[in-house]
Formats: sequence, C-alpha cells, structure tokens
Amino acid sequence: MLKCQICKATYPDVFRLKCDCGGLLDVVNEFEKPLEDLLNSDYLDIRRYLNLLPVNQKTLPSLTPPITPVIERKIEGMKVLFKLEYLMPSGSFKDRGTYVTVAKLKEEGIKEISLDSSGNAAISFALFGKAENIRVHVFIPKHTSEGKKKLLRLLKAEIHEIDGSRMEVHEKAQEFKGATYVSHWYNPYFLEGTKLTAYEAFEQIGEVEYVIIPTGSGSLFLGLYKGFKELERFGKIKKIPKLIAVQAKGFESLGKRSKEKNMLGEGIAIPEPPRKEQIKSALKESKGVHISVSEEETKKALEELRSMGFIVEATSAVGYAGFKLLLKKELLKENSKTLMPLTGSGFKSLTL
Ligand SMILES: [Zn+2]
Repeated sequence: MLKCQICKATYPDVFRLKCDCGGLLDVVNEFEKPLEDLLNSDYLDIRRYLNLLPVNQKTLPSLTPPITPVIERKIEGMKVLFKLEYLMPSGSFKDRGTYVTVAKLKEEGIKEISLDSSGNAAISFALFGKAENIRVHVFIPKHTSEGKKKLLRLLKAEIHEIDGSRMEVHEKAQEFKGATYVSHWYNPYFLEGTKLTAYEAFEQIGEVEYVIIPTGSGSLFLGLYKGFKELERFGKIKKIPKLIAVQAKGFESLGKRSKEKNMLGEGIAIPEPPRKEQIKSALKESKGVHISVSEEETKKALEELRSMGFIVEATSAVGYAGFKLLLKKELLKENSKTLMPLTGSGFKSLTL
C-alpha cells in the first residue's frame, strides 16, 4: 500500500509518483512472519529478498541485480566495511531501485518512460529498458561525464541534454509529455530497492554503529533508513545505526550552504531534494549527523580509495572523505564498525 505523507490518503501498490494532493508517497509494508520465513533461500541474488518487496513475482525484470560483496579494512583503529555497490550491472547502486520500479512498470505494461538524472540513474534505467524493451528518455545535464553519455548512447537511450543546473534538468524532464515520468526523487518504489542494501549488509556483517552515505536526493540514504527500520521491527537489530549524510560543499541541503563549490560530486549536486524533510527526520531519529566536504578532500579520498583497489567515481569518494573528516574531529567511537557503500563505478567517468 502507498500512503501520502501529507493527507494520509492510501493507494494500492500500483505505479504512482505522488498523491492527488501533491504529497510524497511512501510504501507501507506489513510483514506478518518472522524474517527467516520471508527470506528466499532458492536464490543467491537479490531475489532472496523478494518477499520484502511490493512486487508481483510473475512479472519481474529479466535482469537481476546481485548481492554486492563487502570488503573489510581497518582504518585508524576503525573497522570499515566497504560494500561494493559499484559492481552492480550498470555500475551503481541505482540498479536496486530500478529493479523494483521496472517490476512495477511491467505489471502495468508501461513501455515508454522518462527521467532526469546526473547520469547513474539514467544509465541504470537505460540498461533495464534495453533488456525489457522499454523506451527510455533521459534528461541529463550537459556537463555530465562524457563516459556516461557514451554509455547512454550505446544503450540506445533517447538523450535530452539540458544546458543548465541539475534543478533545471529536473524541471525540463517534468515538462516532457508522452512518457511515464519515473523520477527516483519521488518514486516510492525506488526506496524499496535501495532498502535491500541494509538487509544484505545485516546478513553479511551483522550490526554496525555507523553508516556513511553520500547524500543528494536521498535515494540511498532513505532506502538504508527504511531497511534498518524494518530490521528493527523484525527484532533483528536493537536500534538503527547512526546514519551519516555526507554532502558536497556548495550543494548542502541539510545544513548551511557553503560558498565554495565542490563540483566533483555530480551524483549529489542536488540543493533542493523533494524528500529533504524526510532525510532530516531520519537523521534525527538515528542520532546521525550531516557534514559536507570540499573538492580537495574528495580528490584525496578518491586517491586513497584507488590505493585500496576501489575504482569508484568521485561521488562515492565524498562518503569516504566525510569519514576521514569525522575521524579527524574524533567524532566516531573507537573500535566501532562502519558500513560504507561505494556507490558508483569509476569506469564511467575516467576524467579525474
Ligand atoms: Zn495526499
């Protein structure tokens, strides 16, 4: 069931971006069995968690995301668990949300969609669209990495390049008629996919104290929050971990906006995300914090991640840069366990 955040109206689990009143929608799940009974042991990919998703299992996408691996490193006495989300089929965590969204689109026979993206969501939908014969219109900023644009062309997406900021790209996409708009900024089903990161991490590494998340639209942040909340309700964890939202300087939506601009976090350069209040309340509930990092700090973090063997894009390094900053300020508990999703592949943007 979908529920409106403003007027509390409910809708059945059909594809829908917003309430009739304009409010944002959330998927409300009621699980009546213990988690063990809901996990599907027939699969070693994300279909293991199908019973936790509001989808018709007869019309699933043919392309299935894997369960992503975790690599542990000790960094300054902290146990850091890097979750390699960039090893997803399209090279970013977005495939999780796309998988659930495309499942819903297939249920309704929708064959033409549009979305706006800084690149990764566009590539993800283009890849799934190609596999499912769905025509995908993508609205992207002109300054999107050339590698990402090339990939979109290879995947035969209908590319609409917009010469403007990420917010202007968003406006143009909303004006476009003739296709179903599936923006992950609103789409409640997207978060159902990204919540699975929490389930996987829990099964792989147990409870953690902190989760560090590069945060723009909040599609990963809110998914993780939802996943951990559900695990808490299942009685699997005592409390949700402290969620740490890391933003790029100059594009902060959760705190004071810096004058200097960190242009490296193209995936999170979103100053006004529609789910901002929801992110803030999840931060507060988890007793987490938000911080922002500079271009210099991001570059350094990217280099360090490469030295550890992680070829990720700069947006992923924003999270690691935030972690380093918190270490420096001694804001993390000693000997604690931190989950750090590495969100996007560096192979799509080999410019830095
Ligand atoms: Zn409403």
